[in-house]
Amino acid sequence: MNRLNKSRELYRKSKSYIPGGVNSPVRSFMAVKGRPLFIDKGKGSKIYDVDGNEYIDYVCSWGASILGHSDDRVINAVKAACDKGLTFGAPTKNEYILAKLIGELMPSMESVRLVSSGTEAVMSAIRVARGYTKKDMIVKFRGCYHGHSDGLLVKAGSGSLTQSIPDSEGVPLDYTKNTLIADYNNEESVEKLFKQYGDKIGAVIVEPVAANMGLVLPQKGFLELLRNITLEHEALLIFDEVISGFRLGLGGAQGYYNIKPDLTTLGKIVGGGMPVGAYGGKKEIMSVVAPLGPVYQAGTLSGNPIATAAGIMTLLILKNEGDKIYDRMENNAKRLVNAIKRNLQDQVWVNQIGSLLSVFFTTEAVIDYSTAMTSDVDQYSRYFHYLLHNGIYTAPSQYEAMFISSAHGDEDIDRTIQVINNYKLK
Ligand SMILES: *Cc1c(COP(=O)(O)O)cnc(C)c1O
Repeated sequence: MNRLNKSRELYRKSKSYIPGGVNSPVRSFMAVKGRPLFIDKGKGSKIYDVDGNEYIDYVCSWGASILGHSDDRVINAVKAACDKGLTFGAPTKNEYILAKLIGELMPSMESVRLVSSGTEAVMSAIRVARGYTKKDMIVKFRGCYHGHSDGLLVKAGSGSLTQSIPDSEGVPLDYTKNTLIADYNNEESVEKLFKQYGDKIGAVIVEPVAANMGLVLPQKGFLELLRNITLEHEALLIFDEVISGFRLGLGGAQGYYNIKPDLTTLGKIVGGGMPVGAYGGKKEIMSVVAPLGPVYQAGTLSGNPIATAAGIMTLLILKNEGDKIYDRMENNAKRLVNAIKRNLQDQVWVNQIGSLLSVFFTTEAVIDYSTAMTSDVDQYSRYFHYLLHNGIYTAPSQYEAMFISSAHGDEDIDRTIQVINNYKLK
């Protein structure tokens, strides 16, 4: 492995101009007490840092790059779109094509609005839910991440389960007082909130497969409970499928578990590596959005022709090659899980679904936020740095998932397993 001189130098320079040297905190490697690599380029399953080191990439831009890096078909679609101009602030054909494609793959999204990030999609979907139901309170789950908008940066306050407080400085208490917190996979915690605030709750938002406290799967009956209780109380159910959309299969988690939410938010894969987010649902609900209705939401670069070109091509490839791609990714994920379990045995807990997996350094079964928090993050850091040093790039935080792309081949998995097999727990 080459010394990381150039990465170190760029990090030093970046820190002079950018807070912490990064444009999104997880990139800083702070959670694993390291310094970030600066990436020069990527191709297929591999990324290359500025010092010329090659890594098998299991971050894949946090899942966005489901086809691996620089897929020729996607790159060519982007290049062709660039030749026609970058942005017009007027409707373009791509917007309709992408919205139609999304609706075909996720039938609950009859009407779709395109935005530029997952954060924006979620923030807008919540506004729509409140505007539609005329109820201000929302329920979110501890450990689920829905982007960095004010009302969603909350944590449960001490003492009462229901009293939420801002999880970031700069967020006024007034902005989070309508956000109630329940526990993922804990039906009772949801029922309790509805008992107390039932007529004031406009929406429940959930990552149907939680992937931002590490990967945590919904237990049998949990998503059904959310569907039923929201229907009962005339609240909307919002599935935040920014990660799970097009990842658990073409139909996302809602297809996988066969549950139809009222609103869905998308990001990451839907842009195929470019900044695209989307939210949508039943026509009747989405008709409250401006210009049709009274809920305002807009964006200068929304539905940008270059970004949508990447999204369209990515979704078309997934649609055309779907079964083959998803099967291969899942098999590869399972091979990794087996190798990890064989090597680390009962020292770790591994969650996996489709092409997502997480290794938790804990002896407890990880089923929710509190059990995820039992992980030994120092052990994770040690594992992370060992893998990185051996050419395997995984998430620089215990609480993120590992992503496999369709570009990961047998050789990549073989090599990764070989590295995993040589790891010794201290
Ligand atoms: C990444 C993520 C978001 C935020 O998307 P950005 O594009 O980073 O704003 C929202 N929800 C979930 C579930 C995510 O994983």
